[in-house]
Amino acid sequence: MASVDRLLKVKGDGTWTIPPYATVFEALELMAEKDIGGLLIMEDGNLVGIFTERDYARKLILKGRFSKDTLVGELMTRNVLYVAPNNTIEDCMQLMTEKRLRHIPVLDRGKLVGLVTIGDVVKQIISEQESTIHHLENYISGGY
Ligand code: AMP
Repeated sequence: MASVDRLLKVKGDGTWTIPPYATVFEALELMAEKDIGGLLIMEDGNLVGIFTERDYARKLILKGRFSKDTLVGELMTRNVLYVAPNNTIEDCMQLMTEKRLRHIPVLDRGKLVGLVTIGDVVKQIISEQESTIHHLENYISGGY
């Protein structure tokens, strides 16, 4: 299966981030504007956490807290699981399934170089399946 590096080359390496001192409201505004489900939390160039819609639902709404009075840093998940560019999409799938998460940052020697989402993984699998079918069709029509 393709490497994360190859996926990022096709997808682009732009990743939306926000600092921990932003409010949850500001994070939600950015997520709505960019039509995404999660943000990486960066401080002084370092990845310090991840904040997704699930954190909003479970750690804010269900607790009766308010998005304008709560900082992203208070709700983010601090222990971020990540992959390296030479990991495979299969490695990402395994992490996503085992740990039940939909966002995996890509770090190259400590530097953030991209984000793989469950949507990217699904897209990649569909494209690999289509290419296998295409090859098989060529093989069959070639009279082998
Ligand atoms: P998600 O399924 O990505 O919306 O995330 C579900 C939960 O896992 C949320 O609490 C996220 O903060 C957390 N989470 C998402 N991605 C990661 C990751 N790569 N490492 C650690 N926690 C994560």
